Amino acid sequence: MKKIILCFLFLCLICTGCGKKQEKKTDTLGEIVKRDKLIIGVRDDTAPFGFRDKNGNLIGYDIDLARLIAKGILKDEKKVDFVPVTASNRIMKLNSGEVDILIATMSITEQRQQILDFSMPYHVAGQAILTNRASKATSLKDFEGKKLIIVFGSTSENNLRTNVPEVEVIGFKTYKDAFNALKMGKAQGIVADDTILYNLSRNDSSVKILPKRYSQEPYAVAFRKEKESARLIREIDYIIDNLQSTGRLNKMREKWNIKN
Ligand code: GLU
Repeated sequence: MKKIILCFLFLCLICTGCGKKQEKKTDTLGEIVKRDKLIIGVRDDTAPFGFRDKNGNLIGYDIDLARLIAKGILKDEKKVDFVPVTASNRIMKLNSGEVDILIATMSITEQRQQILDFSMPYHVAGQAILTNRASKATSLKDFEGKKLIIVFGSTSENNLRTNVPEVEVIGFKTYKDAFNALKMGKAQGIVADDTILYNLSRNDSSVKILPKRYSQEPYAVAFRKEKESARLIREIDYIIDNLQSTGRLNKMREKWNIKN
């Protein structure tokens, strides 16, 4: 009987041990190395950061950065799968585990830091207004009582809704839709990051970007806020720091015609 009880206790110990092992999450960097591939959420509507060439391939500054990070971690810049995300679904796709990280024109904000971790910034943009060339407006105040367009889930949406309640906000899922809506006269302007607006309006002389900037938008890689991200954050910070100090990030800005 004693032997049976001892055997039973032993089995229990093994089983609880196994259970614990299954529950324990491996750290994300370990998972990526084991999978031998990075899965990165990127944008396909935010030229020149993440967009598609005429063959449908994803290109841009964020895509180049993603490949350099894959090279740094897995020694091969091709070892990366891209998952297109929008401003409004990117946090959900990161937190559900569908992607390992986001490189998606994502600004560090205090609010986002409550639920996400960020790398060091790799670019700084600023919020601006794109409006019709004929417009007499010079600043946000001049749009009171009028309509402005934002992309859902962007920092501009948050800024407008909290700081300028006198403006009617019209939201779209992508910057392409937002620009088309402006062109169709559905609103008097778009509020978004200057870098994105600059590209949207590059070949269109009927619109202009107003000179004022309303925020600083430090773009960074976003991670799930959990201890399993710690090693990956350190590794990616190291890679970005290196790209910064060797002048590679500046070269990428030149390549994609991004003004500081
Ligand atoms: N950088 C801003 C943000 O993080 C706007 C660009 C975007 O839509 O991602 O929300």
